[in-house]
Amino acid sequence: MRPIQPIETLRQFGLKPPRILTVAITDACNLVCNHCWVEAGGLKVPTHVPERLLERMITEFAALGGEGLRVTGGEPLCHPAWLNILRFSRTAGLRTLILQTNGMLFTDEQVSALQELDFPGLSIEISLDGATALTHDLVRGAGAFAGTLNGILKLVQEGLAGRISLFMTEMRHNLGDIPALLEFAESMGIGSFVSGALVRCGRASDGNSMVPPDSDQYLRLLDYYDSNVRFRELYRKIGTIAAIEWRTDNSVSHEGCSFIENPYITPSGRIYPCLLCHTDEYSLTGVYEKGLAATLIEGAPLWSSLHRISRDRTDALSECRDCPGMPCCAGGCMGRAWGSCGNFFAADDRCEVRRTIYQNRQLC
Ligand code: SF4
Ligand code: SF4
Ligand code: SF4
Repeated sequence: MRPIQPIETLRQFGLKPPRILTVAITDACNLVCNHCWVEAGGLKVPTHVPERLLERMITEFAALGGEGLRVTGGEPLCHPAWLNILRFSRTAGLRTLILQTNGMLFTDEQVSALQELDFPGLSIEISLDGATALTHDLVRGAGAFAGTLNGILKLVQEGLAGRISLFMTEMRHNLGDIPALLEFAESMGIGSFVSGALVRCGRASDGNSMVPPDSDQYLRLLDYYDSNVRFRELYRKIGTIAAIEWRTDNSVSHEGCSFIENPYITPSGRIYPCLLCHTDEYSLTGVYEKGLAATLIEGAPLWSSLHRISRDRTDALSECRDCPGMPCCAGGCMGRAWGSCGNFFAADDRCEVRRTIYQNRQLC
């Protein structure tokens, strides 16, 4: 009997096949950050996904034509087999490997091993939430900045600077650090700098001091971009900041969400249709027991209904109708809308900032 093809099934339900798989290989972490949306670290007993289960998943994913793997956590370096998993993925034929880390736990031997593994599709995404210990450690705890810098230096000394992508979570207290972070990245030869606004869920949902920047801060950043030639040049070379992209982006959003192109799997084996849409109602459990192909077939009708919601919400959002950014924003990210206010039919949590930027764009 011909096996049922998961890719065929997904297409029949109007869904795109998985391209980049994000796998949280552990929920352990050496930090307990104030803004951690998966609430990793602390005193709980860690769950490391067994290496053989990860290998089976990667083999299946590669056989389905998967392009790349994003290895995350928790802190993936807490998993004793993280390097083996990267090596295995490469041997399995994945063309892109992304390691998301706080960068603090690299040993010299591990960095040498990464250098041996190095290939153009390798990316080491390091979280850096400030240009100084003052701003970074406010979120991540005392000593975190020094630890991350140490990890970055090891990678740079091993010739891996170009593979590093610094990622900053934009918050009210650190948005002003972006120019200094770009300078730092450039001075180290780092390949790219990316930032994105804090998602108010997990530990950041309790109204503590970690809050997203306000619209005025973003407008000041845009003014700085306009007035400072050096910043603009650095940005064009290595930067990606959503607020700056929004101002210049004239693309038209047609399709709604790209489920299930970039699925996300937790250490307990729960699969969500994308990294930012983590509502349990539209997730499936037991992916490591059932296998990836069988899980995709089972989930296709569920994610297809979610896909319909993503298309319908654009028409349903009354606040969007008179917004000049509607053609490209189309109501923003439904996963963020769910994460910040528990409602798919709400504008996402960046709406106010985004709308301000679109209005400002009209005035320019
Ligand atoms: S944000 Fe990253 S480094 Fe911080 S506790 Fe969460 S997983 Fe760990
Ligand atoms: S910026 Fe806000 S109002 Fe405008 S389209 Fe996006 S979500 Fe809707
Ligand atoms: S718009 Fe948001 S919810 Fe939709 S696919 Fe993209 S990240 Fe996921």
